[in-house]
Amino acid sequence: MDKNGIVTLFAMHGMRHYSGERAEAVTALEHSLQCATLAQQDGASAGLILAALLHDIGHMTRRSESIRDDVDDLHELIGARMLSRELPPSVTEPVRLHVAAKRYLCAVDPAYMAGLSPASVHSLSLQGGPMSGAEIERYKGEAYAEDGLRLRRWDDLAKTPGRATPPLEHFLALLGCVR
Ligand code: FE
Repeated sequence: MDKNGIVTLFAMHGMRHYSGERAEAVTALEHSLQCATLAQQDGASAGLILAALLHDIGHMTRRSESIRDDVDDLHELIGARMLSRELPPSVTEPVRLHVAAKRYLCAVDPAYMAGLSPASVHSLSLQGGPMSGAEIERYKGEAYAEDGLRLRRWDDLAKTPGRATPPLEHFLALLGCVR
């Protein structure tokens, strides 16, 4: 997926109410821009900022539009695969791991789980619930485990109605910095 493909997907699906985890108070575009803004403010690398911007791109498909909300849409795997032809693992791996990271954090941090939105709790149950001990160990062995966790925390915070962010173009300029 190249820059034009990404711009097209956001144009087609970005104004949808962000419902990756049921109805949230922001659109898909707002959620993505807020997530990338939080990453940039936190000093993340170009790859990780792009991962934050693009982490839910697996939702922006026709299939995802029609899928029922009581099944796991596997959007993190679909998104990582969509991006993998053009972008390196520093972008695609945190995208792939951002759901696993939620399951990890729920297992190791009760305060994290208590702070999830009702929508996130709903999708958590579809995604396998908190990780088991063996899954936690496997997650820790992932090369991009830490980036996945950082992305996850920005993801959870990127749902504020009306928050000002830079435009999509600002973040897409980073595409030239990660090859
Ligand atoms: Fe998200």
